Amino acid sequence: MIRVILWDLDNTLLDFDVAEKEALTTDFKEFGLPEFTEDMLSEYMVINRRRWQALERGEMEKQEVLEGRFREFFGLKGFDTSIAAAFNDRYQELLGETICYRDNSYELVKELKGKYLQCMASNGTKKAQTGKLLNSGFDKLFDLSFISEEIGVEKPAIGFFDVALEEVNKWLLENETKIREEYLGKVKPSEILMVGDSLTSDMRGANNAGLIACWYNPKNITNDLGVSIDHEIKNLNEIYDILNSCK
Ligand SMILES: [Mg+2]
Repeated sequence: MIRVILWDLDNTLLDFDVAEKEALTTDFKEFGLPEFTEDMLSEYMVINRRRWQALERGEMEKQEVLEGRFREFFGLKGFDTSIAAAFNDRYQELLGETICYRDNSYELVKELKGKYLQCMASNGTKKAQTGKLLNSGFDKLFDLSFISEEIGVEKPAIGFFDVALEEVNKWLLENETKIREEYLGKVKPSEILMVGDSLTSDMRGANNAGLIACWYNPKNITNDLGVSIDHEIKNLNEIYDILNSCK
């Protein structure tokens, strides 16, 4: 039985790619940098991805990802590297202001509200994710939100999910009267569905913590990392079939 859904936010419920491009374009303007081009975006994304993956492997600190990626990118382009920290601060705010839903994610989470305990599970920054929750309306739909910056551990580390499970069980105890009788009692990891687009953080995290791994893979990427997947979906609405089959 599935009782809890852990939702990844970026590039699962919300289109991060659109927000990223818009936020960078605006940030470049505000800091008086040259026009932000498609080529620059491609170069930046290589640096950004490499640093996030190092973070997921526990080889890099968060600040070295957030500020370091801009320091490295600005150095490569011959821009002033000393603005990296301030540029990143503003970038986090701008990310929180640009909302673009994936599929009909808002209606989907709204429809499932009250039927399942729904939580956000994200490695993004507190500033950006808080803004996104507020501006998307998801803050009113989620029962709980887990942001790695607040927990102090990143997905896929099991510590992230240990905290989530503990908080979920605390919430269930405090809200017993609001939920259906069959959902009472402690939640087991095998009753939690983790939905996310990332093999390295969401799906590997689900494997580490013993959760049901639901891979949102709209771009049909090949799973060549040996990560174990329980369900693969191309559209978020396919989640209804999974929930119905796991009753
Ligand atoms: Mg994601």
